Amino acid sequence: MAKVKKSTVLKRRESTKDFRKKTGRDTVEKMLEEARLQLLDEKGDIKKELLRDVVCEVCGTRPTRSTFLFRKDAFEYHKCKKCSLLYMHPQLIEEKVVEHYKEDAAVDAWVDVLTSSSQFSYDSVKFDTRLAAMEKYVQPGNLLDIGCSIGHFLKVGKERGWKPYGLEFNDRAVAYAKEKFKIRTIQKVMLDEAGYPDNYFSGIGLWGVLEHLARPREILREMKRILTPGGVVVISVPSAGSLAVRVIRQLASCFNGVGGHLWFFSAETLPRLLEEEGYEILEVGSEQPELDTVWNYLNFEHPYEGNARFPFGEAARNIVERFILEHTYGYKLVVLARKPTGSHAEKKKNGSTE
Ligand SMILES: [Zn+2]
Repeated sequence: MAKVKKSTVLKRRESTKDFRKKTGRDTVEKMLEEARLQLLDEKGDIKKELLRDVVCEVCGTRPTRSTFLFRKDAFEYHKCKKCSLLYMHPQLIEEKVVEHYKEDAAVDAWVDVLTSSSQFSYDSVKFDTRLAAMEKYVQPGNLLDIGCSIGHFLKVGKERGWKPYGLEFNDRAVAYAKEKFKIRTIQKVMLDEAGYPDNYFSGIGLWGVLEHLARPREILREMKRILTPGGVVVISVPSAGSLAVRVIRQLASCFNGVGGHLWFFSAETLPRLLEEEGYEILEVGSEQPELDTVWNYLNFEHPYEGNARFPFGEAARNIVERFILEHTYGYKLVVLARKPTGSHAEKKKNGSTE
């Protein structure tokens, strides 16, 4: 993983507090709390029958060889002593997680978050920037977005000459994509049920999906099958290595319990997982510096609701935020990786180096 490029730095102008309010994230969180209460037994623990034991997804180490970090909303979080992956253990059984994406009102409400003007304009720039980065390595071709929701990434891709395909369970999101963006190639199935042929997609997006899956390795394998040689994936996940998560720990909104985040990757663990699955890492970057969040916490205020202001002026703020993003300390980790072309893979197998 020697010559990985730092990816483009993306910034958002609003404070975290304003952004959360304007996008309606607080409404979604209230709904998730209602859903969570239904999973509890009389002692306030998650019902035993809804939980399953897991091992570290990156290195296979058992949770008995992990460091217990904290308990939040009746869920427990650990850090693998061997590879440093953070993960929930035990985890909700898969049926329960899938049921959430198919039926939960909070997933319906997420459509309101994505279509709010603050989120929509941020995402437009974000998707355009990341597609431009993908196009440095591959020509626009078939583009798949797994868990595409309202189809925003696909819409931006379509405008840049890609042919859009999506997978999404939520009816409201799929209807929006059809009506507003005229995207009719969205299927309501899991990736392994979609029946895509080998070597079909030049690009695949996985935006905030990998951390939800019971078996992340399996989806990476299936994605590699359907990617063309040289095809590029863009993966975004909440980053366990981010400054905000390191500082505010269990208060970070990524530890969302019934919201379904199971694995918390970092700039070390995600590239490792991808390389082990045969991908070549192209760029590792981060988004959302969350300086307000950290500054609130350091001033004894609620990290997301506080009003503490970074006191050293706009110029200093820009320098600090840029530093955070460039060193992959941003709250969201973004990795670009590709399926090696046949010749490249052959060379590797024969032991020659480039
Ligand atoms: Zn591990």
